[in-house]
Amino acid sequence: MHLVRQNGKHGQRNGQRNGQRNGQKSGQESGRGNGQEGGQGAGRGNGRRRHRFRVRATGALLLVAALGSGCAAEGGSGGAAHPAGGAQGRPAAGGPAQARGPAGALSAYVQKVRAARAARVAAARKWGLKLTPLPAPAPPRTKPEITFRKGFEVGDDSLPPVFTTVPTKERIVFLTIDDGSEKDPELLKMMTELDIPYSAFLSDYVTSDDYGYFERMQGRGVVLNNHTLNHRYLPGLSYDEQEKEICGQQEIMEKRFGKRPRLFRPPYGNYNGDTLRAARSCGVEAVPLWSAEAFPDHMEWREWDRDLHPGDIVLTHFRGKADWKGTMPDMIRQVMNVITAKGYAVAKLEDYV
Ligand SMILES: [Zn+2]
Repeated sequence: MHLVRQNGKHGQRNGQRNGQRNGQKSGQESGRGNGQEGGQGAGRGNGRRRHRFRVRATGALLLVAALGSGCAAEGGSGGAAHPAGGAQGRPAAGGPAQARGPAGALSAYVQKVRAARAARVAAARKWGLKLTPLPAPAPPRTKPEITFRKGFEVGDDSLPPVFTTVPTKERIVFLTIDDGSEKDPELLKMMTELDIPYSAFLSDYVTSDDYGYFERMQGRGVVLNNHTLNHRYLPGLSYDEQEKEICGQQEIMEKRFGKRPRLFRPPYGNYNGDTLRAARSCGVEAVPLWSAEAFPDHMEWREWDRDLHPGDIVLTHFRGKADWKGTMPDMIRQVMNVITAKGYAVAKLEDYV
């Protein structure tokens, strides 16, 4: 017997309903998938919240954090100015800057921070954001140790952990976009100009008509992750069927995008022990779910306090006007206004997981 690990009855009921609906045309399926994925956390608003995630607060991490805060205090852009990583935001430990001495290095650094800040302000204005997104701190040199969220275990701690929040004390959240039916070129442009990192979780049945779009996304620094071949309700499948859904997608993504994903998200957030065993068998290291979901006109909160917390993972979808009330840029405007107003920056998930 395989229990559905998500929210007990809620998850199972929702998931089954979805599973039955699978196979319908992609737009509809996608739309429903969202509702169900949104339903994923509904059973969790029971007061149990922060869990015992361990953070390795090493000296290096604290130093990096201090540098990151320094950038923020400057009112400028820090390490996150470049999606590829925060190292660029810090003074180099050698090279021309050092040749000018500490004062020269600092001056060059301040100039760089100011330029990044100005670019960010201009991009925010251009794309109609109410507030300029906050710069993320430089990523940790050592990734935090991530374990299963309490209540999400399947009885084997050695399996890839399922979690909704990354253990960190930084005021950062992570943006993740699922499925892949809507391929809006404006999204690529907007995110690059705003310099906001995000991660994609792709399902082949909606991406196979245009892998090129996601190649371009990858070329802009976005990591592409696994969301199965056909977006099935996995706990309703045998181990072999689940393996085909998960590992088949690993193969396709490696072939199309040159990299085998390390991260996997089960459709609707539903999984069982077989899901995690199958995922591990083909290289999956972690299973990030989400703690809030973004739409063009509102947020759906999964935590009892209906708020963001350090390290929270935010879910949204590749959708267009046919699926929800707006475009991808509309959705980004909405979620970024919320994230920034609450004092959070968006960091890159793969820097931490
Ligand atoms: Zn999905």
